[in-house]
Amino acid sequence: MSYDKFFIDGHWVAPSTDACLAVINPATEEVIAEVAAGGPQDVDLAVSAARRAFADWRRTSGAERAGYLRAIARAIEARAGELAAISSRNNGKPLFEAEIDIGDAIATYDYYAGLAEQLDERQNVPVVLAAEGFESRTRLEPAGVVGLIVPWNFPFVTTAWKVAPALAAGCTIVLKPSEVTPLVELQMGEIAQQVGLPAGVLNIVNGSGPDVGAPLTNHPGIDKVSFTGSNRVGETVMQSAAKQIQSVSLELGGKSPMLVFEDADLDGAVEWILGGIFYNAGQMCSATSRLLVQERIAPQLLERLKSASEAITLGDSFDTNTQMGPLTSAAQYQTVQAYIERGRAEGLQLLTGGNRAAGFDRGYFIEPTIFVDVPTDSALWREEIFGPVLCVRTFTDEAEAIRLANDNDFGLAAGIITADGQRAQRVSEALDAGHIWINSLQVVFPETSWGGFKRSGIGRELGPWGLSAYLEVKHITRPLD
Ligand code: NDP
Repeated sequence: MSYDKFFIDGHWVAPSTDACLAVINPATEEVIAEVAAGGPQDVDLAVSAARRAFADWRRTSGAERAGYLRAIARAIEARAGELAAISSRNNGKPLFEAEIDIGDAIATYDYYAGLAEQLDERQNVPVVLAAEGFESRTRLEPAGVVGLIVPWNFPFVTTAWKVAPALAAGCTIVLKPSEVTPLVELQMGEIAQQVGLPAGVLNIVNGSGPDVGAPLTNHPGIDKVSFTGSNRVGETVMQSAAKQIQSVSLELGGKSPMLVFEDADLDGAVEWILGGIFYNAGQMCSATSRLLVQERIAPQLLERLKSASEAITLGDSFDTNTQMGPLTSAAQYQTVQAYIERGRAEGLQLLTGGNRAAGFDRGYFIEPTIFVDVPTDSALWREEIFGPVLCVRTFTDEAEAIRLANDNDFGLAAGIITADGQRAQRVSEALDAGHIWINSLQVVFPETSWGGFKRSGIGRELGPWGLSAYLEVKHITRPLD
């Protein structure tokens, strides 16, 4: 497949400029591909194609759209190994993690196929207002042409979380992948062709945020934007949306807490804590990067965390021994290093890590890093680092744990580790977070919601909420005969 074109109106189209982006393997720092980088003209072309396609696509039944969604799921399944390999090489994540991503994407397309079918049954449902002498019917209609912008940490999954519900709702799409990891999303163009998705329903334009992302969010032909990324860019996306009174969904950052109570199963705790911060090299919006441990068990737990962290094998994503890969880009590597240096400058105590990983001449590898007794006013405690850096504090009782956990600008996720089911429920209800995991790793299902409280964003993806984000509600009211 060619990376020098964009997928627009059902075809591979030459870009408007000669600009290219080098795509890097973060484990070796080698250029693995060059992709075309577009500009406003390419966005225009894609939006026009999506607008033309919307006229017919919006009239398809949910059952027809479900057919396409299932075909997409099967096409991804048939190429799962190849897609996981592309993603793994571009992102640096171990191959087994990339395989999980592809599986999650397949599940998401299948799930929204089911919801698309149900949409047919939910149309024209009458509400009889007998006393007033009226009947009103509800119609759920697609929001229109949507602009989807995704980041680089889980590119194929994040794309599925947006593309699947948007197609299910009857929207047409212009997708902008991250300039860091565009390779796997471009495959969606081939898949769209393979399953016969009507021309213009899905369009993909690569390029930088300023050259493609901003023209897309500012485009008058876009009815809705769904953005996943940083708070910095999320703010500018919201400003563009405000100018046009355009609908916008934002999935932004996090600084999620993990609360460990003194009755916890310590073996489980070690696994869930490390998974919550070192999976995908910590590049997770939902990383549980603030660890709160009840005082009495802190010494034992920290000792176990130190030895388990030091036993994590770093390496190339294709090496089957690899448990953690490099950071995905040079920029992210520098950001994480800068936070570690800042921690040192603040005089924070390192339990383990804090250096470029030994034994690697090349690649953006950083050791799993844990700072302890981190003050609540430290930048490392308050800000999203987006890397393998865990900050730890202790607490004395449940009330203090909840207070410390909620004392943050973000509210995306949280973890609770305790043997007391009632406490787990009580604390879950008290935490300001969109998703809470009790005694488990971060499991996400298409049926459950994704999104955050506070500055972690606006709206929800996944589940029926993810579909609603792409629907407009219409009522047709008439007098009863
Ligand atoms: P960015 O905000 O830098 O980029 C996200 C996307 O926005 C990229 O495609 C980027 O393009 C694009 N973009 C950049 N500038 C603009 C602009 N002016 N207008 C429109 N689009 C633009 O985030 P990262 O890619 O660095 O991802 C990391 C961030 O994403 C973290 O803060 C993380 O928390 C958040 N995130 C949130 C998730 C959630 O579900 N809540 C999930 C995953 C990540 P380009 O790549 O070309 O710069």
